[in-house]
Amino acid sequence: MNKKNLFGLTLAELEKEISPLPKFRAKQIAAQIYKHGVKNFDEMNELPKTLRAEFSSRYEIKTAELLKRLNSADGLTKKFLLGLVDGAAVEIVLMKHDYGNSVCISSQVGCQMGCKFCASTLKGLERNLTAAEMLGEIFFAEEFLRGEGEKLDSIVIMGTGEPLMNYDALIKMLRLLHEDYCLGMSYRKITISTCGVVPAIKKLRDEKLPVTLSISLHAPDDKLRSALMPVNSAFGLKSLLAAADDYAQSTGRRVTYEYILLGGVNDTEEHARRLAKILSGQLANVNLIPFNPVAERNFIPPSNSALKKFFHFLNTHGITATVRKEMGADVNAACGQLRAMSN
Ligand code: SAH
Repeated sequence: MNKKNLFGLTLAELEKEISPLPKFRAKQIAAQIYKHGVKNFDEMNELPKTLRAEFSSRYEIKTAELLKRLNSADGLTKKFLLGLVDGAAVEIVLMKHDYGNSVCISSQVGCQMGCKFCASTLKGLERNLTAAEMLGEIFFAEEFLRGEGEKLDSIVIMGTGEPLMNYDALIKMLRLLHEDYCLGMSYRKITISTCGVVPAIKKLRDEKLPVTLSISLHAPDDKLRSALMPVNSAFGLKSLLAAADDYAQSTGRRVTYEYILLGGVNDTEEHARRLAKILSGQLANVNLIPFNPVAERNFIPPSNSALKKFFHFLNTHGITATVRKEMGADVNAACGQLRAMSN
């Protein structure tokens, strides 16, 4: 018989699953799974023996399993290939910053968005991840760090896939993660990165979860943006910026705009000027990302001087910009290099 996996169920779902057993049993099980990381019913001492045996025969607790691990030479970035509960293999990246440990997780296997500079979309979308699978990625990171005497401080949903195209599972996972009986993770420590699915940004605003929104902008005008990112043909810059600004105003959270610098394509002073213009008056930061090479893509990184000029222009024209410290490029763990997985 196929055992049902209890990992990833909410308390309400657990209550329903084990009814007519009393609700406090579901609470006990949730605490064992999410607080204590128990994967085996035999270890659930609070449950009567008969119940433990019955559960073992009907259920399992499956999270993520390590398939492969790569460490960057500087020791600050680790990439893991994980086998997830429902059988998918995805990559997560753990990064050690001055301000703590963050994990970058994936939201889909593959991606349908077709951005011209990204490795994750080369083979299209295979499928969405379930809430349990995304939670499994985070639990893996949390448990790994705990084993090293460290803790997980923040989560970025910026790996493979477009999180807002897997909306329902994403929201379910975020709410579960935030529950006291789960990791009790503060929404403020979570960042969602999107290529700009405007209707879903509006929906997210209405959820009233104060997660940080990061918008992959990459071009200051519709013509160039549509050439680089097909999503822009459906939702143009004007509606994207309006939705992002509205999100910032409603949540009070500053929006981050990611801007990949592609040598000779979007990295001139004129591009910086137009970018500053469209973002003027927005509650925003710009995060500049020098292009990370992807074998199948014909772009090149910006020159050092173009990067410096672009950065300087924004910061002297009213826009706070930072340059993303790219981590893990030596193990293909940097932005846009994730795919599951050849090296
Ligand atoms: N679909 C989401 C999240 C995944 S991409 C999104 O588009 O935001 C995460 C970030 O990496 C995005 O800003 C993306 O545009 C960027 N990225 C993709 N390919 C890249 C590359 N080759 N070099 C640098 N950044 C890249």
